[in-house]
Amino acid sequence: MTSVLWFRRDLRLRDNPALHEAAGDGPVVALFVLDPALLKPAGAPRIAFLYRSLRALDEDLRSHGGRLIVRRGDPVNVVPKVVKEANASAVHVTGDFGPYGSKRDEAVEKALGDDVRFVRTGSPYAVTPGQLAKKDGEVYKVYTPYYRAWKDRGWHSPATTISGRVDWHTDVRSDDIPKDPELPATLELPDAGEDAARKTWKKYHDNALKNYGDERDRPDLDSTSHMSMYLKWGAIHPRTILADLGPGDDTYRGEIAWRDFYATILATWPESAREYFNPELAGMDYARADTKAFEAWTKGETGFPIVDAGMRQLLAVGWIHNRVRMIVASFLVKDLHIEWQHGARHFMKHLVDGDLASNQHGWQWVAGSGTDAAPYFRIFNPITQGQKFDPNGDYVRRWIPELREVEGKQAHTPWELDAPPPKYPEPIVDHKKERQVALDRYQAARAHSSS
Ligand code: FAD
Repeated sequence: MTSVLWFRRDLRLRDNPALHEAAGDGPVVALFVLDPALLKPAGAPRIAFLYRSLRALDEDLRSHGGRLIVRRGDPVNVVPKVVKEANASAVHVTGDFGPYGSKRDEAVEKALGDDVRFVRTGSPYAVTPGQLAKKDGEVYKVYTPYYRAWKDRGWHSPATTISGRVDWHTDVRSDDIPKDPELPATLELPDAGEDAARKTWKKYHDNALKNYGDERDRPDLDSTSHMSMYLKWGAIHPRTILADLGPGDDTYRGEIAWRDFYATILATWPESAREYFNPELAGMDYARADTKAFEAWTKGETGFPIVDAGMRQLLAVGWIHNRVRMIVASFLVKDLHIEWQHGARHFMKHLVDGDLASNQHGWQWVAGSGTDAAPYFRIFNPITQGQKFDPNGDYVRRWIPELREVEGKQAHTPWELDAPPPKYPEPIVDHKKERQVALDRYQAARAHSSS
């Protein structure tokens, strides 16, 4: 019996359990649906990376006698239509645990009716949300005990590769994969697709993984793995990565666990994509976001070099180093007093790796309203953070041309120079003052919520 393998966040042929299940039924139609609801919040870089990933998947399928069928529209209409055209009896998917994806899947399953099976196999995570619970059955809300339980439970080995043995059913109409949207001239995107993901991982594993624990907080050294955009689209499964880690790679393993942890939190509390996980901070006195200060933040023109370098890196390459994501997020929430949701939306538009669970909960963590929250009163100082994690100012000079002539560490405090670089803005706020404002507002919000 023919079945449809509906690809979503699993754009790969190797280590793909849903493909095993589909191929077990008989001929397989490889389908991707361009769903306007998912494309809408994504900016041009993420959309371009998706289209490139689809082209790579199509090429891989063609090299095995298959082809990617692409259709545009609401999956609730499109999937049953393709099932009918292919005379299929099942739809196979990798499970989706996001707020939109899980509802969409329920609706598609219903639309398919009783005669067509809707089969969920596996997930984009090492440990699928819902598989780990505390002794009392509750979901872990704190990362450290979650991590211990996650590691104890373990995960499957990568699935075997069967793409060459699959009977691909290609006789179904397909739309073209759209051309890339227009991209900023300066934007450099990494190569997309499963081969690129595996090559990037192998190179990182063989050369730089050993330095991860010592260097991961240093944006100037750029020594993290850059696997996030591949994991976002499932060009590689985290299980494939975990299988290559040794006992000394605990720090890296722990980061993969953060990804699983946040997916579990979002799956359990879908409203946390928009609302404060810790409601205590919801009533705080926040500033409006339609201001010059917010605009300066988005453009990288705040006058705080590490913040501006990060925001300009985001616009230039659709990615920011993790330490700098924390610094720029803290600056928005605690120096400009703007709610985290505005920053999270801007990130989701520009990040190539934009992932609702990691992004919204990364923001909530910084804002102090998330799980396992860094307490609100721990406020990043953008100057000392820059000096500590970019000690020679190299990261700042790389992204801010106006500071290229400023030597060494002084790039973090250009206003102290006898002749400050004329084209670089003065700091838009006084950090010391805004820090106190944030603390005062926090105390007031706490008092209000406990009264
Ligand atoms: P590495 O350091 O090499 O880590 C390896 C992998 O572990 C990453 O690819 C990622 O999948 C996972 N990982 C690492 N750190 C985290 C973390 N803190 N939380 C969850 N997973 C993690 N990550 C996204 O994938 N998408 C996002 O939209 C996103 N938004 C974020 C927003 C904020 C405010 C913050 C503080 C963090 C955000 N992160 C997000 C997490 C993290 O910054 C990125 O995963 C990481 O920078 C990606 O680079 P890398 O692949 O080189 O990471």
